[in-house]
Amino acid sequence: MITRRKTRQISLGRVKIGGGAPVSIQSMTKIKTSDVAGTVREINDLGRAGCEIIRVAVKDAADAESIRKIRAKIKIPIVADIHFNYRLALSAISSGADKIRINPGNISKREELIKVIKAAKKRKIPIRIGLNSGSLPDNKILPSTINHKLSTKLASCAFQYIKLFEEMDFRDIIVSLKASDVVSTVRAYRELAGKCDYPFHLGVTASGLPREGTVKSAIGIGSLLLDGIGDTIRVSLTASSQEEVSVARHVLGALGLRKFGPEVIACPTCGRCGVDLVKIVQDLNKELQRTTNDGRRTTKHVKIAVMGCEVNGPGEARDADIGIAAGKGSGVIFRGGKIIRKVAEKDFVKELLKELRR
Ligand code: SF4
Repeated sequence: MITRRKTRQISLGRVKIGGGAPVSIQSMTKIKTSDVAGTVREINDLGRAGCEIIRVAVKDAADAESIRKIRAKIKIPIVADIHFNYRLALSAISSGADKIRINPGNISKREELIKVIKAAKKRKIPIRIGLNSGSLPDNKILPSTINHKLSTKLASCAFQYIKLFEEMDFRDIIVSLKASDVVSTVRAYRELAGKCDYPFHLGVTASGLPREGTVKSAIGIGSLLLDGIGDTIRVSLTASSQEEVSVARHVLGALGLRKFGPEVIACPTCGRCGVDLVKIVQDLNKELQRTTNDGRRTTKHVKIAVMGCEVNGPGEARDADIGIAAGKGSGVIFRGGKIIRKVAEKDFVKELLKELRR
């Protein structure tokens, strides 16, 4: 069991962040936000894939104004992502955004920031103070951090902004401190965690293509979640947003923080394996991902073990809810720790699915 850091709870419409709420999954749309139909389609597809909060880029006035139309056609909260131009933040707020993300590092005038905070306060929506290592304010603005390492710079910069927000009696805050290097990211969040009780949005920024990005995100986000730090996550990948959501689900599932449908445990195979286990597991996975003809997918958390031989096979298969331990060209199915029947290799997937749906 992971003991989670105690944080205050922030609401984004129906979704809660922090204060013991489940760690939520976020992603970002890829197309221009002013393409309302395309953005709605993308968001609704992502919602079906498990995305719980969506962020859209607000680059100009048309993007900001489109939020109203988009919001009316989607089921998950929408976050407006704004850089440089505080007027776009004001426009996104009045257009109905459920939260805004700003990087105070690039809205440098204090009076502009104050206008944004006042507008969010009036509409009772939260603001994410989203700092990125690539756009920290320069040393003229933050002279006290001049000799600090990146993680300390990120944490102390965020802390100074938190103080400014608090001076305005604004506490609907979520914080993110993203660096593209995993170690700085983890250290920055750890540093800030002891100094405030605001919920954290976790992510490793610009982590790259799916393989590298998944590894970096799993290490960065996973290390923090294991410490109990983190209330909502976004896995950033140079790939589709669907892929980001899928990886985020796996990270949360691997830590036991959330449960999303069946979990497949499979051995890596070795010279003892008497069946084509890789193909069997791939086929099983494909079937588990597929929505069945009646529109349903198994969402129950069930552990399915697929093991290649009699060495670890029976033990793992017994510990799972359902399992198969292969022999040469065949295997035995276990359910609830008991052997049920022997099946031929060609029927492994079919028989496991039969057990799953029983
Ligand atoms: S379960 Fe058997 S086949 Fe699979 S890796 Fe272990 S020893 Fe090899």
